[in-house]
Amino acid sequence: MSDDQTEQKKQKLNRLQTPLGVFDILPEDHLYYTHIKKVVRHRCRQSGFRRITTPIFEFTDVFQRSIGDATDIVQKEMYTFSDRKDRSLTLKPEGTAGVVRAYLQHGMKELPQPVELYYIEPHFRYDRPQKGRYRQFWQFGFEVIGELDPALDAQIIQLSHKIFEDLGIAHMLSLQINSIGCPICREEYITQLQNYYVGKERSLCEICRERLVKNPLRLLDCKEEDCQILAQLAPKLNMYLCKECKEFHAKVLEFLEATGIEYQKNDKLVRGLDYYTRTVFEFWDKSEGAQNSVGGGGRYDGLIELMGGASTPAVGVAFGMERIILNMKKEKIEVPSKDDLHIFVAQLGDEAKKTCLNLIWELRERGVKTVGALGKGSMKAQLRLADKFKVPYTLILGITEVRENTIIIRDMAKGQQKIVSFDTVIDEVVNLIGEKNLDKYSPGEVVYG
Ligand code: AMP
Repeated sequence: MSDDQTEQKKQKLNRLQTPLGVFDILPEDHLYYTHIKKVVRHRCRQSGFRRITTPIFEFTDVFQRSIGDATDIVQKEMYTFSDRKDRSLTLKPEGTAGVVRAYLQHGMKELPQPVELYYIEPHFRYDRPQKGRYRQFWQFGFEVIGELDPALDAQIIQLSHKIFEDLGIAHMLSLQINSIGCPICREEYITQLQNYYVGKERSLCEICRERLVKNPLRLLDCKEEDCQILAQLAPKLNMYLCKECKEFHAKVLEFLEATGIEYQKNDKLVRGLDYYTRTVFEFWDKSEGAQNSVGGGGRYDGLIELMGGASTPAVGVAFGMERIILNMKKEKIEVPSKDDLHIFVAQLGDEAKKTCLNLIWELRERGVKTVGALGKGSMKAQLRLADKFKVPYTLILGITEVRENTIIIRDMAKGQQKIVSFDTVIDEVVNLIGEKNLDKYSPGEVVYG
């Protein structure tokens, strides 16, 4: 390697980069995030869900207590650190724990029940980075807290499905559903499951051997081939469901049928968090199965009590936005872009510059997306820039035009120019762009104090 190459390599290594597993959302990808957020907000607003944002970090206990000590998240995926007063804090690895903490902290049980909330947030997990698996990722999710009815489980699935339809990926996903019972019937099942594995420990992967003691239900959804073969023959949870859990699950499926959404009963679906009871479900990628689940959720009737509140039923779901975007790209779904500019304003001389400062804003006020290169020198350089912005029209204001109170409109595609009166240029531009293409911002009606 030459000295030059060594130096180049050194410089590259010194360059600041993002840590492994986290990424910048560049403008082209933001179009997808913006579109998904819009769809989620629209559907949630229609359905009476209100948005909540919990902090990026919370006391570690909030997650530890709710997600469960033996889960993968708590065992090895949390970003936990001490602050200057030695308090243990954790970047949120999932959304439900924080929402439930907020429900309790703000006395939301006094509100009409159920309380229906949604969030769109970044989350953090020390996962092994790979396609569709990052250390900072975005999730949106819904929670329905304070009422117990199997129709609510069906309803939250229906809302999710509707959003996937809007995003154009519903047909790529398959809904998997199961019941993992209540703590009482599950306890009996876990004993049976552990008995089944006695003598088979050596065929299990290392992680499953640990799970056998700490989190036996997770033995069922291990992705290792040998573990899967054993799980196939293991006792089935639905054989051990108590009468109430069985009836509840049958009702969920009955309501789901009424919605017309297809589902697959999956008696090995358990989900990775401790707080679930009864209904669990996931939306899998039809072509890649569990490896590429876009998200899932379930009922968590015991969680609020576990976190210090009164016994309160609840059901929720969370979806990963990066996986959804991967699917949208795979399906070649084009999302709307409002970033295309309408007008570039080119000018020469200080007088023209002064006029342009206001002209640019007057155009923007009318909804015309306008940029001007006030810092650029020659007209040639400015027009080159206009080409780069791919604007359909450029306005040119030189010394002569300022003197004569005129301005030039240049059609960039045709390369044709016309001179118009400065006083009518905004109307002319609006005509050319078309009223329906204007970018008008309306914050809604605001009542000032
Ligand atoms: P979970 O809360 O683990 O069930 O995750 C719900 C969904 O969030 C998953 O199905 C993924 O779509 C997404 N998700 C979870 N972890 C990650 C990650 N590390 N990177 C990207 N997306 C993730």
